[in-house]
Amino acid sequence: MHALLVEDDDRMAHALSTALARRGHTVRRVGRALDALLHAHEAEFVLLDLGLPDLDGIQLLRRLRAVCAAPLIVVTARCEERDIVQGLRAGADDYVVKPFRMAELIARIDTVRRRSDPAAHEAREARQARGDRERLGDREDGSAVVRRGDVDIDLAGRTVTVAGAEVALTRREFDVLAHLAARPDQVHAREEILDRVWGDVLLAASRSLDVHVAGIRSKTGRAELVRTVRGFGYQLGRVDSRTGSRTDSRLP
Ligand code: CA
Repeated sequence: MHALLVEDDDRMAHALSTALARRGHTVRRVGRALDALLHAHEAEFVLLDLGLPDLDGIQLLRRLRAVCAAPLIVVTARCEERDIVQGLRAGADDYVVKPFRMAELIARIDTVRRRSDPAAHEAREARQARGDRERLGDREDGSAVVRRGDVDIDLAGRTVTVAGAEVALTRREFDVLAHLAARPDQVHAREEILDRVWGDVLLAASRSLDVHVAGIRSKTGRAELVRTVRGFGYQLGRVDSRTGSRTDSRLP
């Protein structure tokens, strides 16, 4: 596949280009944000350093996201939680902090690429990848829709509706929710969710799990849809459709 590598440091760029080429990828390396925007259309995936000479990386990330849907991994020395959250919210699929192990970065690239296939193909792949063990979409009543109060989670169609209106979750927010919904009676460990949805259990990704859960809660307006099990993980929660979201209903 064709990678766009946005990195102003020559040594880092050389190391990354070599590793990517070894994996069979072709690489266009650019050192400036404006060149990244020029070549974004040709990228099949993007590696983005945030510390660039001509534009802040988060600003570049937002502008890239407007013109380019390819999977994008931020590779940066910025390791504050606030930076990571900002990067993920701006549209990064993953976030890797320097210094990193090359094998780990390559594994993360494989994961985001796998997950960026078109929706129909992805639904099929997700079912296969997560295995027959979970029997996703093979529920007892033959349907792949999980209902909680007025929330319908269609696992095969990859849609979520609240009171009949579709909610636009990101690909990964849906993956997290689908993982919980596929086995609604179980409590799922953080590590298990990170492993199944992100492809690893490493610490950098574990922060993004919380961001994604927050996104699911706020976009559906049903905070109780995902139940936090303190110190362990998450479970699909119960939603009372008579009251709906407690935050916007004013009961006497
Ligand atoms: Ca830099």
